[in-house]
Amino acid sequence: MVEAVLWDVDDTIFDFSGSERTGLLRHFAAEGLPSGEAALDRWHRITAEGYARLAAGELTYGQQRRERVRAFVERPLADAEADAWHDRYVALFEAAWTAFPDVAAVLGALPYRQGILSNSRAVHQERRMRALGLRHHFEVLLCSDGLGCAKPDRSAFLAACAALGLPPSQVAYVGDQLDMDAVGARDVGLLGVWLDRAGSAAPVPGGVRRITALGELPALLACS
Ligand SMILES: [Mg+2]
Repeated sequence: MVEAVLWDVDDTIFDFSGSERTGLLRHFAAEGLPSGEAALDRWHRITAEGYARLAAGELTYGQQRRERVRAFVERPLADAEADAWHDRYVALFEAAWTAFPDVAAVLGALPYRQGILSNSRAVHQERRMRALGLRHHFEVLLCSDGLGCAKPDRSAFLAACAALGLPPSQVAYVGDQLDMDAVGARDVGLLGVWLDRAGSAAPVPGGVRRITALGELPALLACS
């Protein structure tokens, strides 16, 4: 019997990819740079390289961000200029923040306690949920930076259940990543629900439930 629903945020509740895409395209255009799919691909490639150097300990977070900006604009920029360029992007990204259109109705209608478990920084997700007018739906908002562990580590799911004071068997987890979210949750004893918005043809592992829109969630939970 489900008593509570835990949620992923990015690309489950918050349209991270769409908001980022809109923010980037507007930013490139505002900076007088080529905009479009090729520019997005180039930015994402440069970003992946920057994050790899961050993960390898070659650069600090601030250094890799500036290096990404310099690589993208293909000009030497002082630190302050690179920071300002990135700040202008962030302002347009934040102006483009949106929740998926099926989110508000489902969060408001579910007769369960609700919480967030995200592999992000709590300060970011608190701001996003408040900006989108959704924060009041969630009793707890837990992120990997505060927990010291991240999905699909079982410790992350167990910490979220403990925060609700419920055993995993009474908690459902809803997320867009099959392995990290739904399989990870299932392996710890939660009801793992994979939100497959793209309607992919990927096989669904045993014990995992798949939905393609949040409107399917109330009936699924009511039968669980
Ligand atoms: Mg996600």
